Amino acid sequence: MQKGQKEIPLSVPNLDMEIVDNLKECIATGWVSTGGRFITEFEQKIAKYAGTDDAVSCQSGTAGLHTALRILGVQAGDEVIVPTLTFIAAVNPVVYQGAYPVFVDCDEYFCIDTDKLAKFCDEECEFKNIKDAAGNVERKLINKKSGRRIRAIIAVHVFGNMANMEAVMGIAEKYGLAVLEDATEALGSYVTEGRYRGAKAGTIGDIGVYSFNANKIITTGGGGMIVSRSQKYLDQARYLTITAKEASPEEALHFVHNDIGYNYRMTNLQAALGVSQIDKLEEFISIKERNFNRYAKCLAGIEGLKLLAFIPTIRSNKWFYALYVDEEKFGEKRDALMHRLIDSGVQCRPVWKLTHTQKAYAEMQNYEIEKAYDYEKNVLNIPCSTNLTEEDVEYVCEIIKGR
Ligand SMILES: *Cc1c(COP(=O)(O)O)cnc(C)c1O
Repeated sequence: MQKGQKEIPLSVPNLDMEIVDNLKECIATGWVSTGGRFITEFEQKIAKYAGTDDAVSCQSGTAGLHTALRILGVQAGDEVIVPTLTFIAAVNPVVYQGAYPVFVDCDEYFCIDTDKLAKFCDEECEFKNIKDAAGNVERKLINKKSGRRIRAIIAVHVFGNMANMEAVMGIAEKYGLAVLEDATEALGSYVTEGRYRGAKAGTIGDIGVYSFNANKIITTGGGGMIVSRSQKYLDQARYLTITAKEASPEEALHFVHNDIGYNYRMTNLQAALGVSQIDKLEEFISIKERNFNRYAKCLAGIEGLKLLAFIPTIRSNKWFYALYVDEEKFGEKRDALMHRLIDSGVQCRPVWKLTHTQKAYAEMQNYEIEKAYDYEKNVLNIPCSTNLTEEDVEYVCEIIKGR
């Protein structure tokens, strides 16, 4: 990159200076840690937005996913079905619980392929009656290959798309599996058709989790939120994220812990950003939409290039933009285009290296993965920040076209 050249980041925060007033209040009052009014206020705002009765804040999306798996009963030796095309933080918590991921393919919208998910449960698994420690017999889904119990599915809503939740929930019901929605990238996306019409990403499965990392659509610097339609799960989440500290006044004074929890609660400093950011969400989504349409218009008709559309059955938050490069038709490899953009000051990156090919997961089971390889090889993520200007979009498109 040359000096003085334009620099366009991939995905950066959009923070208003008025937030400083909230931070000042935290500092002046000393409420900087895991207690304070902004935490409750932010939880309530997210719950209201998501349409749930309550929401439980945490330190990160990863912490939220970990807590959720624990609540859903994922235990050592269990298996959890996950998509391979995802940020690795969606999968790591499975292993934190001592369980094993089983990797499946994605569909054309980057989310878990529900046909293959159904086929896996149907052909590769079987129901067995298993006696638990108390002597109760329960019908459980067992992976024929490993002999392990399948406990849950993690549906990751990639880039602001949403997994086909109608299919996921149908499969979960048929096979007795829990559903965790990784909605870390999809705050603001909701279903517009069918059985779950109107439901926000994260509120359809048993538990859903949002992230407020700096690259997400709204940010608290780092942080997450657990949502659910089940108050029981939310109560458990609140208890576990505050080190399983008992709430009754006498016990609270003595710090009685009747379980092993986590120190996962969000800080008031983080929430001080959140309460302001959530008010901007709808505005951010319309900016994302506008910039996506600008890219689409600017890049239309270029042989071998396709800005991938979001699934039409939802209102997407259009968080991340994905460009598919058909190297033969376009006449340039995805990586060559990527380096040309980077050299011109445009931050971009290939879609994730597939999780089942990462060193720590290479030995674990994967099932009929095809589409994800195609996307891994050919998809490029291009700048999508909400402070991206029309000029920026045009600049990026010029570089793309100027080969
Ligand atoms: C960002 C992200 C996470 C993790 O969220 P953190 O807040 O960074 O821990 C998990 N899954 C996916 C798909 C993500 O994009």
